[in-house]
Parts: sequence; C-alpha cells; structure tokens
Amino acid sequence: MPIRLIVHGGAWSIPDEMDTAHLQGVQKALEEVYPALQSGISALEAVERAVNILEEDPTFDAGRGAFLNDQGEIELDAIIMDGRDLSFGAVAAVQNLLHPVSLAREIMTKTDHSMLVGKGAQAFAQFIGMEELDPRALLTDRELAYYHQIKEDPHFKSHHPFEPFPSDTVGAVAMDGKENIAAATSTGGTPRKMAGRVGDSPIVGAGAYADNETGAVSTTGWGESIMKVLLAKTVCDRMERTSALEAAKFGIQVLREKGKGYGGLIGINAQGDYAFAYNTEKMAWGWVDEKGTIQRRIR
Ligand code: ASP
Repeated sequence: MPIRLIVHGGAWSIPDEMDTAHLQGVQKALEEVYPALQSGISALEAVERAVNILEEDPTFDAGRGAFLNDQGEIELDAIIMDGRDLSFGAVAAVQNLLHPVSLAREIMTKTDHSMLVGKGAQAFAQFIGMEELDPRALLTDRELAYYHQIKEDPHFKSHHPFEPFPSDTVGAVAMDGKENIAAATSTGGTPRKMAGRVGDSPIVGAGAYADNETGAVSTTGWGESIMKVLLAKTVCDRMERTSALEAAKFGIQVLREKGKGYGGLIGINAQGDYAFAYNTEKMAWGWVDEKGTIQRRIR
C-alpha cells in the first residue's frame, strides 16, 4: 500500500508576492514529514507534525501569523482525526498556544471528550504542561497592520477574505504503511471575527474528516459556508462512489451551489489516491507523488 502525504496552506487570492512563502511552507512540511512516514510513523503522527510545521510558519493563518479578531486578539481552532476508529480531538477559541492541533490530539488521547473550547481548553493545556506563549509571540506585523486597516471599515464582512482576500488555514492528510489515514486542520479563523466565533475548522465533518473505509479530507475557506455542507464528510462519503478527484470537485460544487461559499480542500481516498479542489483564485498545496517527488502548486 502506498505511503501518502498532502498538505495545504489556505485557499484565497494569494497575492503573487506571497506565492513563494506559501510554496516554501508547504514544501518544508512535506520534506520533513514524508521521510518520517516512510520510516514508520503513523498517519496520525504525520498529520500532527505537518500541521505543527505550518503553525510555526508566520506565512499562514494558524499558530504564529493568525488573524486578529474584533478585539485585536488571536483565537485559534484545530482538529485532528484518526481514520482507524473515527476518534478525533478538537479545540476552539484557544489563545497563546503555538500548536492548537497538538492540544486537540491530547484531548483525543487523554480525556473522555472530543472537543474543548476557551477557558476549559486553556486549563487542560496548562494541566498537561503545554507551553503558553506571550500573545505577542503569535502576532505578526502583517496581521496587526491588516487589523488596523479593516477595524473601522463599516463595509467589511468576514467572508470578504475569500472572495478575493486572505485565508491561510493549514491542513494535512496522510496514509501510512498500514493503510491508516488521518487528517488535521488548524486556523486562526477569519479576520475581524467576533470574539468567541468558531468556524468550520474544528468541527468534525466540516474542517476535517477521516475514515479508513472511505477517505480523509482537510478543508479551508469561508467557515460559515463550509459548516452548512459539512464539506469534509461530504467529500469522504462521495469517495466511496467516485474517484478521489471527482469527489473533491463534487464537494466544491456543493459548497458553491448549496453553501454559497468559497474554499478548497485536500484529501486521500481509501485506495491512496489524492484529491484536491478549490473555487478561490488560488490554493497553496503540495503532495508527495508515487515516485517520492514533492509536488507543489498554488493554482
Ligand atoms: N475555514 C477557516 C474559518 O472559517 C478559515 C480559513 O480556512 O482560512 O475559520
């Protein structure tokens, strides 16, 4: 069975001058994690590691580099899901953590629950000794400037970023040598979102889904529309009936027609075929092909 790894760094009208940073970020995640996957780490471990690398990269709206909410603060959401038994962990509205996806995995493995939000998630992070950062450690000059630019704009709506502007959520999907698949997604959400707003990314079936029998998917885009159509689960279900690529395209069609939304997705079906699709101008993504060569795309 093939070993597979695919990652994304958001779907939107990525300005041309930011193409290189996006492609480099995607490349780094693939370069560092694929060899480990070949050496035998699980798909679950692989998607966590890949997302960790993207969370650290200030290019993306996840971990360091996340958008600010309407209070000028960063609140992060993430999910990780294991296709072996459908177990997942998710966090929403957590602050001062570089790796919310790792907290999501700890919730999945160390508690009786699947999702923790806000104060409770924060308390659990402290309990397990996860390092809390000064909020400034996640803040970039780029996002502070953008916050000030849009803060008082009476015409701004949180879905505007996807029509033509920013959305840099990150995600990864992997298949390991035991034919297990997993998916993970991590985000700072949408710019100037209301404090406490939770998007699609940490919602199971919307921001990610993984089932060894069908496939695994990580999504990005306008969360309010992605949740309406449970985009990740919609695509995984479709993978049972069509090719992986057709299932991805179907998902984006449903997002557009029923959800009136914008976004993109990556995935792998149970046979190990890659899936991707988007209806934004660009999506940053990359995968390792059958020959073990890294492929990266921004369009
Ligand atoms: N889906 C994310 C959200 O709405 C944003 C993104 O993908 O960039 O929170």
